[in-house]
Amino acid sequence: MQAISPPPTHQTHDLCLMTLGTASLESVTKGIALTQRFSCFKGCAHCCHYPVSVTLLEGVTLFKSIPSNIWAAIRDKVKVAAKVAEETSWEVAALAYTPCVLLSPENTCIAYAHRPLQCRLTMTAKDPWSCHPHRLTEDHFLQIAPDVYASQLNRANRLAGFPTGSAPLPSVLLQAEALCRDV
Ligand code: SF4
Repeated sequence: MQAISPPPTHQTHDLCLMTLGTASLESVTKGIALTQRFSCFKGCAHCCHYPVSVTLLEGVTLFKSIPSNIWAAIRDKVKVAAKVAEETSWEVAALAYTPCVLLSPENTCIAYAHRPLQCRLTMTAKDPWSCHPHRLTEDHFLQIAPDVYASQLNRANRLAGFPTGSAPLPSVLLQAEALCRDV
């Protein structure tokens, strides 16, 4: 899997980035909540066992929201997950039912307020039991204008001076760490 390379000339302004990324993603959540009823509930987290791809802006936003002691505790796991993501197809990774590196032991996201676009767009109005990758049927997850939201996120990435491609969440978190360290 190819890493996303930020342009060498970009400038990272912490607050601006976080506001931009979060505002962009929050509008997705609000927009969807206005139009849909969900059967998702806290602590389910089947969808947090599918591989997630994120843009660099999302990675930086996520990374900055993680307290340093928690990052220190999960960093080795993130490195291993990044390596596995490089070597594993999406299908195999999904069937392995491996939890996202940001999923807590209580089955909640440790960066929930800053969760990526893919996480915000993955939801169901059907039985959450069937969200498990071994039980998933076609059309189980709602697909609500993903292209519209992706283009909004791409715009936010461009405004931040970042590329618009995405890569596995663990790899992008490590990239975000390196980027934030250099600022
Ligand atoms: S980032 Fe959070 S919401 Fe998204 S898959 Fe990981 S734990 Fe779940």
